[in-house]
Amino acid sequence: MKLFNTLTQSLEEFAPLTDNTVRIYVCGITPYDTTHLGHAFTYVSFDTLIRYLEFRGYTVNYVQNVTDIDDDILRKAREVGMAWDELGRRETERYLRDMDALNVRRPNVYAHATQETPAMIEIIQTLLARGYAYESGGNVYYSIKSDPDFGIMARAIGLNDYSAMLTIANERGNYPDDPRKKDPLDFVLWQAQAPGEPAWPSPWGPGRPGWHIECSAMSIHYLGPQIDIHGGGADLAFPHHTCEIAQSEHFTGKAPFSRFWMHTGMVHQDGEKMSKSLGNLTLVSDLLQNYSANAIRVTLLSHHYRYPWECFPEDLQVATETVELFQRVRALVGERVDGTDSLLHDRFIAAMENDLNTPQALFLLRQAAEAVVANHDLNTGAEIVRLVRVLGLKV
Ligand SMILES: [Zn+2]
Repeated sequence: MKLFNTLTQSLEEFAPLTDNTVRIYVCGITPYDTTHLGHAFTYVSFDTLIRYLEFRGYTVNYVQNVTDIDDDILRKAREVGMAWDELGRRETERYLRDMDALNVRRPNVYAHATQETPAMIEIIQTLLARGYAYESGGNVYYSIKSDPDFGIMARAIGLNDYSAMLTIANERGNYPDDPRKKDPLDFVLWQAQAPGEPAWPSPWGPGRPGWHIECSAMSIHYLGPQIDIHGGGADLAFPHHTCEIAQSEHFTGKAPFSRFWMHTGMVHQDGEKMSKSLGNLTLVSDLLQNYSANAIRVTLLSHHYRYPWECFPEDLQVATETVELFQRVRALVGERVDGTDSLLHDRFIAAMENDLNTPQALFLLRQAAEAVVANHDLNTGAEIVRLVRVLGLKV
């Protein structure tokens, strides 16, 4: 199977690092607001990859995190007058419910940042001992100037120099004017407790982890020093994944931290990236009021995971018709899934092995389904039902 590796900007042949088990880590949500179509695109895409890898005989060990302590959670909790942990629990439950509805299987480990601080502290202590981090004003920072390798992922996506990195980092939550930093691009590994905020014990006093260190710690803790695939939305490549690579590889002494890096395209609405700050969100829970989960899933998988796209209501209508077609095939074949259409089977595999080309796979299945509805070829019909289920559709 060929997958596009963001780190090398090329299609590469996929094989697990060891034995037959694929180790996947996908960056999870920060639970302070409701799940929108952009989240669904990421998690449905990776769910489909995992289902496909299992269909091809691999065992998959899948870890996803939830960033259940973060500036956004504390801010939102104050706004709505709720306890921060109660808000986090409520939004995590909503997210899991939305994903369950879309037939997204839960990861093998769903790791909560607030429960993993010992693993984070261990990494930070090692980075301090090795000179990659420094303590300042109760906080601990990663020192990018101490690390000549810093920015390997940033350069891969075209952020070729320091100023390009700083510009984007500042747009994505960096605090360049923090006086405790030695360099504006240094990022926080541990931050001291602010008045009224929750805190966890550490060698540097009570505080809470920075966002980037969470994913390094949870990935290494549950999947080991090197994994096969690390994924997330395209906006995570920098700074989040760039920082993860730096701190993980200097902690374990092993590179690459992840063999493949996969990023999903941003979903747009009204011509702009769907985001909480712009307020142009399509919520999964709202869509589920008007469309079936299958139709939403077909809409998402009709777009290749790597590219940005805009969602239009007509797409959901077309997807609904596609699902109805698959259901007619299912009604014709009954419980049979022992399809014998090797041509369709091979073409489906060729599409999926070409960087998980789900739009092409769906096109082939739809075309075949139209023929089966006309000619009642039950061998092909049973093959269609089997393959449609690999895409996570319930038919
Ligand atoms: Zn992450």
